[in-house]
Amino acid sequence: MMLLLLQRYFDVITLKQCKKCKFKDYYFISVMTTFITNTLICPHCKNRMYSFEITSYFINKSEVFSDGKVDSDSPIPSDYKILICSTCNKPFWKEEALLADQKIDDSTTDLLEANNIPNLFPGFEEDHLQKHTIFYTDLLDMDFADTEEKETYIRIKIWHLLNDRIRYQTSSVFSNLFEYHKKQTDSAKIKDLFKNNLLRLAKIYKPNTDESQLLMAEMYRELGDFENASYLLDSMDTKNNSAYQQIYEASKRNKIKVFKLVK
Ligand SMILES: [Zn+2]
Repeated sequence: MMLLLLQRYFDVITLKQCKKCKFKDYYFISVMTTFITNTLICPHCKNRMYSFEITSYFINKSEVFSDGKVDSDSPIPSDYKILICSTCNKPFWKEEALLADQKIDDSTTDLLEANNIPNLFPGFEEDHLQKHTIFYTDLLDMDFADTEEKETYIRIKIWHLLNDRIRYQTSSVFSNLFEYHKKQTDSAKIKDLFKNNLLRLAKIYKPNTDESQLLMAEMYRELGDFENASYLLDSMDTKNNSAYQQIYEASKRNKIKVFKLVK
């Protein structure tokens, strides 16, 4: 049996009021979120630990960006494919650490939870984006990704992190002035990393759905390769959806920055 524990949480009735227009515009009743607990064994030190996986969920409000990143106010199924050992602090692929025999017994009830990578880089730390990005680039340098599928996963993380600098740019004049010098120093290195990462990602990425083809077109658009972006966009079957039209429009206007999709 693959499941160690199955826990269900029922949310109470929630009625929220929009802060801007005061209209009570959304609510949900008895939404069920299901968690599965997996038992893992560290490939490095053989320590046993556990991790949660969310299998059903309800998204209340979310923001979707052109590079495929989704920010939501409710937990979404975690895509934490890489975890950190709670004992030796080394990273490992979750799928390779799952214990074949996931049975419940007394020896597994006191396990520590495996760490998630974002928890290592809390958002209040000024250089969290930089450290987080370096963490993933170091993983690639040490050949942590031994298949193109794993490399794709890490390179998408790097792409999203580099785009976070644009995505969550503060509008404060003071913080912009404070950041100005640092940005000038870093910008050449970041541009190189952004370009090389995305070029390699576009090379190994294997789109097999309209959504993934749109994401690949977005990679070329952000690289400024509008010829390849247009080629992919023109060859797609589904053209009448909002995300397609917004990315198509941005590509036609030679825009290269990530942007929030309007619903
Ligand atoms: Zn370990």
